[in-house]
Amino acid sequence: MGSEMCIRDRENIKHLYNPTNTLEIIKKYGFGFQKRFGQNFLIDGNVVEKIVRETGITKDDFVLEIGPGIGTMTQILCENAREVAAVEIDKNLIPILAETLAPYDNVTVINEDILKVDVRKLAEEKNGGRPIKVVANLPYYITTPIIMGLFESHVPLESITIMVQKEVAQRMQVGPGTKDYGALSLAVQFYADAQIVLKVPASCFMPRPNVDSAVIKLVRHEDAPVKVKDEQFMFRVIRAAFNQRRKTLANSLANSSELNGSGHACTREDVTTALEAMGLPAGIRGEALTLAQFGELADRLVEMH
Ligand code: SAM
Repeated sequence: MGSEMCIRDRENIKHLYNPTNTLEIIKKYGFGFQKRFGQNFLIDGNVVEKIVRETGITKDDFVLEIGPGIGTMTQILCENAREVAAVEIDKNLIPILAETLAPYDNVTVINEDILKVDVRKLAEEKNGGRPIKVVANLPYYITTPIIMGLFESHVPLESITIMVQKEVAQRMQVGPGTKDYGALSLAVQFYADAQIVLKVPASCFMPRPNVDSAVIKLVRHEDAPVKVKDEQFMFRVIRAAFNQRRKTLANSLANSSELNGSGHACTREDVTTALEAMGLPAGIRGEALTLAQFGELADRLVEMH
């Protein structure tokens, strides 16, 4: 019933996705943009519609939106999904969302920091534990913890469609030997198939950010491309390797605080023995290893202790 209402009334709904309507609501509530929350709101209707299309959302889907802002994309998500939950940290946006989302009866706004939300419980309550779709346009500094958190905690997840700084999107796709290669590239490649679906210039936001953005869609793999004995330990090895990326891998991993807490602390000699058994030079840096090689190295270190 709710979803039919949404479609029938669509013509009468005041969509936010243009500068005039965005400014109007912001002025009405005397809203002040907060830099610390990365508040740059989309003001381009084509971009909003295209992002929602790329998510592949249908009326069967429950969608988690992270950082709805004034509800610009949330409106279009409500019109296309069965149900939407939108998690917004800024309490000053809650009264605005109450107004802009009033026409929809298939949305719940949660005033919370996404890093404190039990997404697994939410997926259980709202989607019977079936894989959910996540859509986000977030401040860049929390992009990595959120993506890693969602993947590593094994929340039932089908895809994450996320707006990120253009360079971060590139970082998610690169392999060894490039300066952008790092822990995020490896995590994304281990868990998902990553595809940049849209480039979004700074002019599509209010206020205008200093950087261009891109939307990347991460579709979770059914099976990881690399099998490892202890996934969490492999990611500790990866993080330790890139925490000090100018050092050799043996130096980075030996006595690393990341590995000390894992139950598999290792010495320089352990690492060089493992590398040599893999046919790799003892002085190699982490940035030269592929995902499969990190997997093998982690397995060898686990076996040693
Ligand atoms: N989705 C809207 C749009 O596209 O116009 C707003 C995007 S704006 C870049 C990011 C939004 O995320 C802001 O509304 C901000 O307050 C919110 N936000 C920032 N940190 C958050 C967090 N830790 N948890 C939930 N929301 C957060």
